[in-house]
Amino acid sequence: MKLKIKRTLIFILIITMVFSVAGCQSKPKEQEEGLFKAGKYVGEGQGLNGPIKVEVTVTSSEIKEIKVLEHKETPGVSDLAIKNVPASIVEGQGLAVDIVAGATWSSNGIIEAVTKALEQAGADINALKTLPVKQEKEKKTTEKETDVVVIGAGGAGLASAVSANENGARVIVLEKMPKPGGNTIISGASYNAVDPKRQAAQGIEDSIEKHYTQTYEGGDKKGNPELIQVLVENAYPTIEWLESMGMEFKPEIHTVLGGMWPRAHAPVKPLGTGFIDTFMNYIDEHKDQMEVMVNTKATEIIMENGKVVGVKAEGPDGDVIIRANAVVVAAGGFGNNVEMRNEFNTQWPDLTKIKSTNHPGATGDGIAIAKTVGANLIGMEYIQLLPMGDPNTGSLSGNIEQSVENRIFVNMDGNRFVDEGARRDVMTKALFEQEDAFMWVVLDSQNYPTGDEKNHFNESINELVAAKRAYKADTLEDLAAQIGVDPSNLVKTVEDFNAHVDSKEADEFGRTLYQWKIDKPPYYAGARVPTVHHTMGGIEINTEAEVIDTNGNIIPGLYAAGEVTGGIHGSNRLGGNALADINVFGRIAGKNAAAYK
Ligand code: FAD
Repeated sequence: MKLKIKRTLIFILIITMVFSVAGCQSKPKEQEEGLFKAGKYVGEGQGLNGPIKVEVTVTSSEIKEIKVLEHKETPGVSDLAIKNVPASIVEGQGLAVDIVAGATWSSNGIIEAVTKALEQAGADINALKTLPVKQEKEKKTTEKETDVVVIGAGGAGLASAVSANENGARVIVLEKMPKPGGNTIISGASYNAVDPKRQAAQGIEDSIEKHYTQTYEGGDKKGNPELIQVLVENAYPTIEWLESMGMEFKPEIHTVLGGMWPRAHAPVKPLGTGFIDTFMNYIDEHKDQMEVMVNTKATEIIMENGKVVGVKAEGPDGDVIIRANAVVVAAGGFGNNVEMRNEFNTQWPDLTKIKSTNHPGATGDGIAIAKTVGANLIGMEYIQLLPMGDPNTGSLSGNIEQSVENRIFVNMDGNRFVDEGARRDVMTKALFEQEDAFMWVVLDSQNYPTGDEKNHFNESINELVAAKRAYKADTLEDLAAQIGVDPSNLVKTVEDFNAHVDSKEADEFGRTLYQWKIDKPPYYAGARVPTVHHTMGGIEINTEAEVIDTNGNIIPGLYAAGEVTGGIHGSNRLGGNALADINVFGRIAGKNAAAYK
């Protein structure tokens, strides 16, 4: 019996040893193979404006380096994603990294490109996508004191911060996103102003009265006449203010979509980066008195004895309390808050599934915060849609139009359906009535003589055609075939349009803005759908940018400027008037907040 037990034990021992050896053998094999095949690999992903190419260097056990080799993302908007996402992947040795808010497409494009490169390196992609466990940081409360606190580092907020400092105030700006800019930095940046120099040089007749009338009537006379007067009178002096800080505008004036008149100024720098760079340069030069706190979301305006005395916020390290003499709310609109859109929308079909041109932070926080301290809200039902959304993203990127005068819109049958120089709401309502609410923008090579010229979103038509985001053909028939519309309809549509360009007479849709005929091949087409663009309603202010409460009284120490406010644009904002609005009223709000005691 003893012998039998002994034999059994020996047998178990041998079996165990065999399995342990087998186990030991599999380990060195795994190590020999490693996590990656060492080397350099190139991968490509899709960003917002086109492909992003990266080079990933790996050893057998480590992601060593990631270089972004090529991309077409927008400078100023995507910079943080291009810097931070590769760095986070290397730091975390995995693909489950945070997306940079406000640069989602660029972040995802980089992650896709790195994934493709790592696939070639034989990596276990699923394992690399597993989320690393994050260590919770210990939270603390930060308390600061200043003269003026500004909520939101978009155009209105930064204009008011600079203006407050010019008028002697120390300023803290709170920004919930990882970088300043908001909608302003991604905007087409067209700025309306009656300009004594540039318009005259182009033989354009204009006047402050005309700008006033078009703004007031373009908003169905729902805007506050006094606020509109301040806007149109100060639009040009505010351009001069921006120029005095080094911002440059091009000499040519254009008509922006829904702008109704050629009075739009284009900055030299792409998109809205010129505005933000100008203000941030000023803030950098006045660091001792000014600070922008990013990743810091304002949650509450602090009131004591009926007066505003500061702001509460949530920062990366915990609660933030800023005590101040005065507060400027400049947190932008609610174009990207579906719930809020649905709460107030009375003018459009259901907007739940309609995408937006706006940055992700446009969620109406400022309106909600101000409401809790009694601010009156006006015009909340006036939500602006554009007929110019990218069918995939809702953004304005990929929009091939250069100026209102020189392009037509056709539906899936190849027929025009609206005055393309009309108000934005008129054009979008007409688009909703077309099949699939879908249209093509059609124009010719006079808009892009070489193909390398950029649109308002810093993309050349050649790049858009290469990415299949626009179509190009030497004949209208070929263009029609490529985009799937009836060729004879498209040819006839363009012939009819050209006849009106010759006669300069209003056509059947009432269009009167013409410049060139569409007759110089190659021809181009780009697809567009309705998209939520701007919210005209918000906090009620007076001409001093003071916030008005529900009883019609001023809330002491509280100011507001920019898209967060209501009552200026009425039911429909003219294209190009928002950038004038945010700078004009931002500047006024800052000056008055600095003077408030
Ligand atoms: P924003 O620039 O949006 O800034 C608000 C800031 O507040 C954001 O940075 C946001 O993150 C921050 N914020 C929000 N909530 C909080 C919180 N709780 N705490 C802290 N910070 C917060 N208008 C024109 O006149 N011409 C154009 O060519 C034009 N093109 C456009 C193109 C696009 C794609 C878009 C989206 C808009 C365009 N507009 C244009 C409209 C115009 O850009 C905006 O109305 C304007 O920039 C709004 O400026 P703002 O400073 O009020 O808001």
